Amino acid sequence: MTAVVAAAAPCVLAEAAPYPRANATQAPALSLPANTGSSEQKMSDADIYKSRRELYDRVSLGTNVPWYRLAAIDQYERTITKARPKTRDQLGALTGIFVSEEEWAGALNPNQQDVTPASIRWFGGIGKDGDGDGKADRTNDVDLLFTSASHLMKYGDAGDDFAIALWDYYHSSRAVQRIVQFASIYEKFGTLDLFQHTFPIPIGNNYSYRSTWGTGRSWGGRRVHEGTDIFAGHGVPARSTCYGIVEVKGWNPYGGWRLGIRDLNNFYHYYAHLSGYTKNLNQGDIVTPGQVIGWVGSSGYGKPGTSGKFPPHLHYGVYRDRGLIEWAFDPYPLLRKWENDERNRMRSSGKKKG
Ligand SMILES: [Zn+2]
Repeated sequence: MTAVVAAAAPCVLAEAAPYPRANATQAPALSLPANTGSSEQKMSDADIYKSRRELYDRVSLGTNVPWYRLAAIDQYERTITKARPKTRDQLGALTGIFVSEEEWAGALNPNQQDVTPASIRWFGGIGKDGDGDGKADRTNDVDLLFTSASHLMKYGDAGDDFAIALWDYYHSSRAVQRIVQFASIYEKFGTLDLFQHTFPIPIGNNYSYRSTWGTGRSWGGRRVHEGTDIFAGHGVPARSTCYGIVEVKGWNPYGGWRLGIRDLNNFYHYYAHLSGYTKNLNQGDIVTPGQVIGWVGSSGYGKPGTSGKFPPHLHYGVYRDRGLIEWAFDPYPLLRKWENDERNRMRSSGKKKG
């Protein structure tokens, strides 16, 4: 029965994200976000989160900028550096914040490597000395983070003030949206350790999926298939795969009842063809891995409410925000990994229970 369903043509999917985007040819690394700088590679994720949190708390104490706002800026910058490694160096050991020499020292500063706070200020550079050693060092974690915090300190404490401060710095509504989203996730959970994942369908249900990346569409035609179709019965729960925030919810002519969740890797997880959503789940809500968000269905390919034009399945896509465009990549390897990890977790907890 499952095999018959799985053999059906993969669904057509478009307009997953409301941004221009391109198709990725290479998948991103499976490893998660912490290890970037070479000096960090020996540290465990737990050590990195602890050190980062100490850094945020230290700068927060000196500036009254909440740690979760600093964490959000830092994490956003880290995701952009990860997406665009050729144009952005990893400057600090723990932070992902990138500031160009020109911005740091001032565009007209004849010494682009200037570390003297007074002359940097004179030439309109943003670089600040955060750790009190008399130098504004663009490769020092505290100086980098304090420079960001100093910008925020020019504005009020309210959420709107924070958004305006971000706008004045990034001049990008997407950057503002991301950082505000990240800050609310960090504030809600009070920790940096938010990168666990689950498989979107509860393990134990009958489902099947295979790699369908880039195969032709059965309807709509112009684009390749950007995602993996997980075939399962109508009404089987669909779960969030990550810690994240609901960015998009509602009808789309291709995706039907769909949901988009943004995570702290700046990945956009896209669920389509749902038969419905969990009650009280709204845009802006924060979700955890494994949380039921809706149910598998066959909605889409027409006016709101259209259903049943293809076998029920969950279309699951993942897009990476690269700052200017949203970049689709094949979620199949991630799905396999999350499925295996979850099976292993279940097996080991089953053993413990005895
Ligand atoms: Zn699909």
